[in-house]
Amino acid sequence: MTEEAVHLTGLSREELERFAEGMGEPAYRGRQIFSAVQRRRLRSFDEMTDLPKAFRERLAAEAVASTLTVESRYVAADGTRRYLMKTSDGMPVETVFIPEERRDTVCFSSQSGCPLQCDFCLTAKLGLLRSLTAGEIVEQIVIALNDAYGVGAKTPRGTNLVAMGAGEPFLAFDSLMKALGVMADREGLFIVPNRVTVSTAGVVPKIKELATIPERPHLAISLAAPNDELRDRLMPINKRWPLHELLAACKEFEASLRPGERFTFEYVMLDGVNDSDEHARQLARLLNRHHLRAKVNLIPHNPADPLPYRPSTEERVESFKAVLEAKGVHAFVRRPRGRDIFAACGQLAARGGEPNRPALYQIS
Ligand code: SAH
Repeated sequence: MTEEAVHLTGLSREELERFAEGMGEPAYRGRQIFSAVQRRRLRSFDEMTDLPKAFRERLAAEAVASTLTVESRYVAADGTRRYLMKTSDGMPVETVFIPEERRDTVCFSSQSGCPLQCDFCLTAKLGLLRSLTAGEIVEQIVIALNDAYGVGAKTPRGTNLVAMGAGEPFLAFDSLMKALGVMADREGLFIVPNRVTVSTAGVVPKIKELATIPERPHLAISLAAPNDELRDRLMPINKRWPLHELLAACKEFEASLRPGERFTFEYVMLDGVNDSDEHARQLARLLNRHHLRAKVNLIPHNPADPLPYRPSTEERVESFKAVLEAKGVHAFVRRPRGRDIFAACGQLAARGGEPNRPALYQIS
């Protein structure tokens, strides 16, 4: 096996047809491979028994069907599952499966670690290790779906994907868009962009670029603060793209919204920091000034050592929400899921299962 082995999970059906032809095989062999790795979600050549054995052996010499290894699987009291995986070069990758009454959600990572230094997020403590490839993104979802529904079993229609794991998806834009294209294929996973939400800390040029893509996922934007002074402190990316630029990009994006579609602002609620009624009024003014078709998801802070914040109290969250709604801004509270296994928002930092267990990877 060479270093450059082709990772089959990251290739589209057409690319696999070309790949098979490059091996001197008919194009339909490529479609068979696509069906094996995407629709049947197989992760080893041995299982692809519809391919001739000699062909499988040749394939195995040039390509890999899987690169991620699952190091640990944690199950939370509320049924949320977290997978701690490793890439072939040893980088940590985490994926979370969130069962819900009406539909399930798979939350995947776009990078190993993250370069953004959001002050309330544990992933930031890892720094950026590297962006993930399209194949590594698709593989996370394959692993989570196989574990939830069985290898190759049909994915329930309502299952959603969110790019809200580790990393900044818009700094892994090409891999992300490639992966979404592969996953949308009806002969494969058949998870269309309409069932995917991508969350960004505010990479303005990519918000604008996404708006130009016809088959695009839904957009969520992490705000965390209603003014530049506070946002500069909590999310340093704000110094690069301050609120007026971010909201102008959102306004541009709005033109691409489909009927009934809204975008989401995420707002982590930090006790005594960004959660007063005055902050809520500022936030409502900010959104109303731009006339944005948006809703706000309030996320009570998920605490983790050594983050210096506490979650807002329930009464505070309710009061904040009431202020927003009185000003015509739709607001929802995101219930924390999987906090006890470090699976909740902002808790992905390649940690072991017990709250006091040290990180598997050194936190600086
Ligand atoms: N980098 C992207 C994708 C991550 S999504 C982004 O920032 O949008 C993760 C969401 O969880 C973001 O909205 C982030 O603001 C929020 N978050 C981060 N740390 C958190 C914490 N400790 N508690 C609650 N939410 C947190």
